[in-house]
Amino acid sequence: MKRLVFATGNMGKMREIREIMDGSGYEILSMKEAGVDPDITEDGTTFEENALIKARAVHELLPDSIVLADDSGLVVDALNGEPGIYSARYLGEDTPYTVKNNEIIRRLEGVPDEKRTARFVCAIAAVLPDGSEKVVRETVEGRIGYEEKGEHGFGYDPIFYCPEIGCTTGEIPELEKNKISHRGKALRKMRTELFD
Ligand code: IMP
Repeated sequence: MKRLVFATGNMGKMREIREIMDGSGYEILSMKEAGVDPDITEDGTTFEENALIKARAVHELLPDSIVLADDSGLVVDALNGEPGIYSARYLGEDTPYTVKNNEIIRRLEGVPDEKRTARFVCAIAAVLPDGSEKVVRETVEGRIGYEEKGEHGFGYDPIFYCPEIGCTTGEIPELEKNKISHRGKALRKMRTELFD
């Protein structure tokens, strides 16, 4: 069976990609399942560049597979796009998200609702066995709240109020979030690009 390898070690992402790529006719594997674990320096300046860097690095080791990689983060307009591509590293990689979230809320003190706009962005890159490349980008739009809310999700979810669902993305279960999330939308777009 032909293989599609997703350049991540995150099991949540693997569940989501398996669900979305189901029926593609490809065996869906994580890097680990495919037996590779390259050391990748994500030194791009955009989500798209970082996704491509990861996909290319894994493709070098697995040239016969379709290799996908994603890069995502939170973009806050009133903070000039921060934390952006540095979302995981913001205030330090090991800093608890409650600290990161409360710092973003603090930096937005006095900023009114209409200027608290933000989005989660996800870029997904694919490198195909013939060496050709595809990149897609999707977002989910929202606003930064005034306090953390919700026990679901991860990262910045508790402060990301999403009008589409009427609550934060931390207040809905994973399967619900996948329907509206930046990553869910980008994965479905990539599926269309690759297989339709
Ligand atoms: P990654 O590129 O998917 O590993 O995401 C980088 C960082 O962006 C994560 O560590 C989170 O801080 C943030 N992030 C990306 N997607 C989400 C999300 O759906 N909810 C909350 N935080 C997110």
